[in-house]
Parts: sequence; C-alpha cells; structure tokens
Amino acid sequence: MARLIFAAEDHVLESIGLPVLDPVALLPNGKSPVIKFADGEDPRAPILVPRPADTHLLLAPPDMEVLVGCPLIAGTSILEDHDQLRVGSRLFRYTTCDWIDPQRRERFDREALCPVDMLAISPGEEAVFCPRCGYGMHVGCITPDLEECLICGCPVAHSEERAMELTTTNGGLK
Ligand SMILES: [Zn+2]
Ligand SMILES: [Zn+2]
Repeated sequence: MARLIFAAEDHVLESIGLPVLDPVALLPNGKSPVIKFADGEDPRAPILVPRPADTHLLLAPPDMEVLVGCPLIAGTSILEDHDQLRVGSRLFRYTTCDWIDPQRRERFDREALCPVDMLAISPGEEAVFCPRCGYGMHVGCITPDLEECLICGCPVAHSEERAMELTTTNGGLK
C-alpha cells in the first residue's frame, strides 16, 4: 500500500489519505475518519489524494519542502516511490512497497536507533529503511538471516524473486 510515513522516536505517524472526490473536514482532533492526529499533535502533515493508475497527488502544508521528488507547483505535486518531504523538522517518506528492500538505502538526517543491534545510526550514515514502520537499520545489519523487521514484522526481500512473491501476496499492489 502506498503511504507517507514519519517516524518519531516512539511512534509512527502516517499521512492522511483522502478518498477521491469525497468532501472532508480537516479538523485537528475532529471525528472525521481522515484525521489521525492524537491530542496535542501537530496537524500539519502532507495529504495524499489517490489518483487513477496508482499514483498520488500531494497537498502540501505551507511550510513543506520537497527534499527528493518533483518540486511543488501551487502547493501540489505528484509523488513517486522514494520521495521525501520535510514539514518543519519532520521528514516524511513516500513509499509504494510493503517489504524491505536491502538495496534501498538512504542517508539518515538525524540519529536513530537500529532495532537489530540496538546501536545508533549517525546522521549522514546510509541505512535501510522499513517502509511499514519507518525505522532505519544499518546496512550491515540486513544479513540474509534477517527475514523481517524486528519492530513490525515487515518482510525483507533479499532477492528479486522474493520481492515479486511479496508483491503478489499483497494483492498485486505496488
Ligand atoms: Zn518495520
Ligand atoms: Zn544495526
């Protein structure tokens, strides 16, 4: 499932996805089904609007910058897998796959704790990112023995065959 995620130290925030053409109210702490913010949480987050052909249109908060991906035009942009967005100090990652790709490496912009060896990943260091829970792991910690994310159980695809298999099991969604 495609999604935008933001990982904080102790929780993961998914971006809001709006149903196509449905009118919605964006109220912090409101009862609307599209609101996922807890009390006291900053409601400024990018919003994903599904479009045909498995792409998403992005609606951006005013202070958002695109770090990786298409620049914003009038506050909107089309997203592609691996795009990164920053809102204030929060980094959102857009992902379209539901499994860990050891080849998909990113430079982390802040210190994070690797759940495999419980050691720090330094800012600027390359790490592999779990697209489901948003946690990062050292490149060297993704050994062939590691079959899934230790935080959320997201499977690791060590080969292209396995990636194909996982894509098919997930209902053929990208
Ligand atoms: Zn995970
Ligand atoms: Zn590690």
